[in-house]
Amino acid sequence: MKAKAIRLAPIPPRALGTGEVEAASGFVLTLARRHSVITATLLRNAIAEPGPGGFAFPGLTRRWALTNVDGYGQYALQMSQRLEQLTQIDNLSRTTLLMLSDALNPMGHASLHEDRHWCDLCLLEDLTSPSTPYQRLSWCVRSSTHCTRHRCRLNSQCPACGARQPYFPSLPFVGHCHDCGERLTRSSPPTSPQDDIELVKSIYTYELIEAIQTLKRPLEHRRLVSWLNAVCDQYRRKPELQSLPSVSSVDNSNLRRWLTGDTKPSLDMLMHFCATLRCSPASVITGQSSLIDFEAVRPADRAKLSVRVKRSESDNKRIERHLYQALRRPLSGAPSLKAVAREIGCNWTYLHHRFPKLAAQIRIRGEKSRAAAAKAQLAQYKDQLSGVLKRLEHMGIYPSIRNVRQHSNMSASVLSKPELRQLIEDRRAQALRGRLSARRAEA
Ligand SMILES: [Zn+2]
Ligand SMILES: [Zn+2]
Repeated sequence: MKAKAIRLAPIPPRALGTGEVEAASGFVLTLARRHSVITATLLRNAIAEPGPGGFAFPGLTRRWALTNVDGYGQYALQMSQRLEQLTQIDNLSRTTLLMLSDALNPMGHASLHEDRHWCDLCLLEDLTSPSTPYQRLSWCVRSSTHCTRHRCRLNSQCPACGARQPYFPSLPFVGHCHDCGERLTRSSPPTSPQDDIELVKSIYTYELIEAIQTLKRPLEHRRLVSWLNAVCDQYRRKPELQSLPSVSSVDNSNLRRWLTGDTKPSLDMLMHFCATLRCSPASVITGQSSLIDFEAVRPADRAKLSVRVKRSESDNKRIERHLYQALRRPLSGAPSLKAVAREIGCNWTYLHHRFPKLAAQIRIRGEKSRAAAAKAQLAQYKDQLSGVLKRLEHMGIYPSIRNVRQHSNMSASVLSKPELRQLIEDRRAQALRGRLSARRAEA
C-alpha cells in the first residue's frame, strides 16, 4: 500500500462548532470503528504514515504524544493536520485547544487529564440513543472536572473493575471499559453544589471551548493580556475588596507578568483565576463584557473565596466595639492586629482600611506588648545563664557554649542570642585572665 493512497472516511467529528465538540483523540476512535480496525492499526498504518524511511509522524505512535493530541502543543498540531489530510475535512484544529496556542503557556501538556474522563449521564444518553458514544473535548481538559449539562463530577474509573481508561484503548470504544468490557456508566454520579469552584471552572472551560469554535485564527496573546488588564482594573476599582493576588491565589509577581505580557498563564491557572473572580474567559473571544460578576459571588462562597463584599453598618458597629474592647485590654499580652481580626472573623487589611486609627493603635500596642514579652524572656534567660556560668566556675569547667549546653537545658537557638553570647564571652575572658594571673603567681 502506497502512503499517499491512504484515505479515511470523510465523516466529520461529532458536534463540531459547539461546546460538545468531539476531541481529536475520540475522533481517531470513531474513525477506527468506521474502518473496522483496532486503534493501533489505524494509528500505525494510516495516521503515522508509514513510508520507506519509517514513520512520517513517529511521535503520533508514542504514548506520551497520544495523551496530548487534544491540547495545543506540537502533537495536537500534527494530529489535526494529519487527520485533515486523511479525511479531507477542514477545521479539525477545533477538536483540540490549538486556537489557544498563542495565548497560553507553551507547556500545554499540563492542561489535559492524564487519562480519559467522562460524564456518566452523557455517556448513558449516548448508549441508549441510536448514536454511538463519543469523547467530548471538554472532558479531556484538566480544568474541567464536571459535566456542564448534568452538573455532576466526571468519572475516570470503570465502575465495575476500577480500571482507568486510556485515551486510545486497543478496541476503539468509548462507552465500555477497555479492561473488563463493562459499561462505563454509573446511574447516579456525585454532584456538586451550584457555587462549587470546580464546577464554575468546568462551566468556564466549556464556554471557552464553545467560544473557540467560532475563531478563524488562533486567539492572540495580546488580546488575552488586554482582557486580563480590564478585569484587574475592574476589580481594583472596588476598594472594599482584598488584594487580587491573595484572592485569586495567583502569586503577585506572576500576575504582574501576565498583565505586562511577559509570561503566559497556563490554562489551569487562568481558569482558577477566572472562576474565583466569576468572570468567564470566553468573553475574551465573544467580546460580551460584563467581566466580573460580583453578584454571582454568593454569601456562602465569600468566606471560601475570601472576597469581601461590603459589610452592613451594624456589622461595622460591632467590629468597632470589638476594636475598642481590644484596646482596653492590659498592655501585657495585648493582641496583634491579625489576632484581633481573627477574633472578629475578618481580614486585618479590612480593619486597616475601614478603621485606620483604631487599627494603628492596636498594632502599636501589639508590637509593644510583644517587645516587652521578648525583653522579659531575655532577662529570664540571662538570669538562668549566669546561674549556669557560676555553677561551671565552681566545678572548674571552662565557660564555653558547648559546656553550658551540656550542663543546662538551654538550647542552641536560645544561646545564639547576642546578649547571651556576650555574657558567655565576658565570663570566658574573665576565666582566661584568672588562669593567666594564677600562672604568673606560680612563676
Ligand atoms: Zn453529562
Ligand atoms: Zn472495567
